[in-house]
Amino acid sequence: MMAIQSDVIIVGGGLSGLALADHLQREGISYQLFEAHSSLGGRIKVHRALSSCDKAAYDLGPSWLWPGQVKIRALVDRFNLEFFEQFSEGLQCYEDESGAVHRGAGYASMQGSYRLRGGMITLVDHLYAGLDSSRIHLNAPIASIRKSKRIEVMSPNGLVLAQGERLVLAIPPRVAESLEFTPKLNESTLREMLAVPTWMAGQAKFCAIYEKPFWRAKGLSGDAMSRVGPLAEIHDATDPVSNNGALFGFVGVPPDQRKDESVLVQQSLTQLARVFGPEAMSPLHVIVKDWAADPNVAVQLDRRAMDHHPTYGMPVAMSDAWGGQLLFSSSEMSPNFGGYLEGALEAAESTARLILA
Ligand SMILES: Cc1cc2nc3c(=O)[nH]c(=O)nc-3n(C[C@H](O)[C@H](O)[C@H](O)COP(=O)(O)OP(=O)(O)OC[C@H]3O[C@@H](n4cnc5c(N)ncnc54)[C@H](O)[C@@H]3O)c2cc1C
Repeated sequence: MMAIQSDVIIVGGGLSGLALADHLQREGISYQLFEAHSSLGGRIKVHRALSSCDKAAYDLGPSWLWPGQVKIRALVDRFNLEFFEQFSEGLQCYEDESGAVHRGAGYASMQGSYRLRGGMITLVDHLYAGLDSSRIHLNAPIASIRKSKRIEVMSPNGLVLAQGERLVLAIPPRVAESLEFTPKLNESTLREMLAVPTWMAGQAKFCAIYEKPFWRAKGLSGDAMSRVGPLAEIHDATDPVSNNGALFGFVGVPPDQRKDESVLVQQSLTQLARVFGPEAMSPLHVIVKDWAADPNVAVQLDRRAMDHHPTYGMPVAMSDAWGGQLLFSSSEMSPNFGGYLEGALEAAESTARLILA
């Protein structure tokens, strides 16, 4: 099979890779995009309601946009998408070390943030709809990269899939570090790649869908913080297009201790019942999405909990790899919104500028 030729090869079909493809396509620059999974979106993922008459979507990756994120806002406006405020009316709950639940007034931690109708995946779907689908390759993991005159990308069985002038790794730098590079990258570049933590890669989300948002009727916002767990931070995840209600929580238990999903589900429901009432024991459906289990997102180092949002941006040692023919473009490369969706768009824009220059 002949390798496909293009100006730019993009590895990674998350928001950054897709936004870059969108920039290049609009500038008439040829590209080929390779995504390891069978679907696009990367860390963006939704669970759709099981009933066909219910259009509800539940975000298992990013849920929120914030005011001041102008690039996301421009995309939302361009595609005419609807957004709505994160529900935060009512009392929030706090579960202390002893398991005692306190209900009180105060700021819901995500008050003032917005969610997208249809879930974040609508951004991905709309970007994809504008791209030339023959240039987007799913189920196409790239395992090795070789630079001779042009750059070649290879599948895990060594098949050369494409050749291009430039290669953009729109994947987390730690994941990129595990690829095979010929010639080898500088030690300092590889070290720097490993040093960039992938935002939320070690996280897992638990989501429970209920007949009704029963906590709202009790004057509770659905927001809770817990010192007991397994859910460390809980929010209302109800989709306003549905009659059902939903709660989601970030799992506070480290990846190595949450391998048994049925135990995690039972413990999470028991916790939701402690915090919001016995109705929580009877969900219509539960979903667990463990991002640490996805090798295209998380590596071993990401299994350690992060206690703060890292300072992101393009490390110097990664800024001129292979004389500028190899570029890095995941959200973590964004200096202003690194780790966020806005950062993925900022990284894509900077990479497109470099390529156009
Ligand atoms: C649980 C969770 C909650 C979050 N909450 C928010 C939020 O509320 N708001 C917010 O702004 N951000 C949030 N984020 C962060 C946000 O999801 C990311 O910033 C953004 O999605 C990153 O996009 P990206 O394109 O840079 O990388 P990714 O989404 O990681 O995309 C990289 C893609 O590359 C693919 N890939 C990897 N290796 C290879 C390979 N060798 N070959 C081919 N393809 C490969 C992967 O499969 C993936 O599709 C959250 C993330 C998680 C996990």
